[in-house]
Amino acid sequence: MPNLIGKTLGRYHILEQIGEGGMATVFKALDTRLERDVAIKIIRTELFGKAIIERILQRFEREAKALARLSHPNILKVLDYGEYKGSPYLVLEYLSGGTLKDKTGQPMPWEQALQLLTPIIQALAYAHEHKIIHRDIKPSNILLTDKGQPLLTDFGIAKILELDDGQTLTGTGVGIGTPEYMAPEQGIGKDVDARADIYAVGIVLYELLTGRKPYTADTPMAVVIKHINDPLPRPGKFVSDLPQSVEKLLIKLLAKKPQDRFSNMDELGLGIKAILANPDTFKLSVPLAEPERNLVTDRSYSPEADENAHTIDLFERSNPVVATESKRPRFQIKDVLPSWWPAVIGGLLLLIGGTIWLNSGIALQIFPTKALVFTSTPTATKTMTPSPSDTPQPTVTPSVTPYPSKIRDSLGVEMV
Ligand code: ADP
Repeated sequence: MPNLIGKTLGRYHILEQIGEGGMATVFKALDTRLERDVAIKIIRTELFGKAIIERILQRFEREAKALARLSHPNILKVLDYGEYKGSPYLVLEYLSGGTLKDKTGQPMPWEQALQLLTPIIQALAYAHEHKIIHRDIKPSNILLTDKGQPLLTDFGIAKILELDDGQTLTGTGVGIGTPEYMAPEQGIGKDVDARADIYAVGIVLYELLTGRKPYTADTPMAVVIKHINDPLPRPGKFVSDLPQSVEKLLIKLLAKKPQDRFSNMDELGLGIKAILANPDTFKLSVPLAEPERNLVTDRSYSPEADENAHTIDLFERSNPVVATESKRPRFQIKDVLPSWWPAVIGGLLLLIGGTIWLNSGIALQIFPTKALVFTSTPTATKTMTPSPSDTPQPTVTPSVTPYPSKIRDSLGVEMV
């Protein structure tokens, strides 16, 4: 992103850079017409190829208008939008109180954490009613007013960067968002609904309550894998006085399967209200720990029998290491031959072996009795002996295979 400080974009005069995220750079600017501070969020087009930038620009106007229509006291207002040298930008209210990220890193009392997130949950309930999913909820997207009131920002940025078929414009195969806060289904780029936002709220709450994120790793893909496979580290392990109802609330928010979470933000809001009223009377029927099963390395796991099969399959293709771990052979002999093929081959081998055996004479040596029976008929051979006359006369000389008399008697063979 070229240095924009001191430049003027339309009626906005850029004052300073206040942040840079994965997809955009944020500047503080002066709205010269209304004479007030604004924030300008400009998409970092240097990250994308030309064709992709064109696609972003095509949908940007539509999305910016949809965002500008969102009107809720807990959602940061989109004031305007524009384009600077091919880079689209949004003009937002400027908030000076920092972000919720500044409050992470150490455990926060559970009542304070639940109260802080309540306006955000109301904002999300409103957005979901208007068919807008946030997709990138995280502490740095929850801005604070100078009085500490939280406002949700960055709606729809993820949507702008996403293609119609659910693929991301970044072409990474990993869904748009921030891996540490992404639901398992979002991490692998599947279609998401409001329940992906519910999961992300769960991660933010977990972080506020315990001072740590539940899943971290060295690479974005490794984090996504942990969201898919690793059981949730019990929040109670890090905070001793956490009411069981709050712990169960977190477990439900962070269920691996969307259908096991709260089904909408209103339901979650009611749960939080009830816990704040009395943490001991609020009951949730969720087990305190998910079963410890690693779907990828567990060899007894059958993808066909599990509705997560598609998830794991997609995951295998995008991660060669795991593909090696759980890959099945492409070709198996049982796929082309019937199940009784070993019996047929065994029979053939016996037949061939038997024939060779019988014809090789080995049988004669191993079973002499049987051999005698076969050769017991004496054979006569003609031999030529000179006769007294000149005409040679054939004589017949009996030739008998010599065998013991005992056997000869028992067989009753008559010698000639
Ligand atoms: P990320 O969400 O990845 O942190 P963003 O591009 O959303 O990156 O924002 C970067 C930083 O800019 C934020 O963490 C926040 O400190 C600041 N910021 C964003 N929007 C505003 C705003 N409207 N008013 C004041 N500061 C803002």
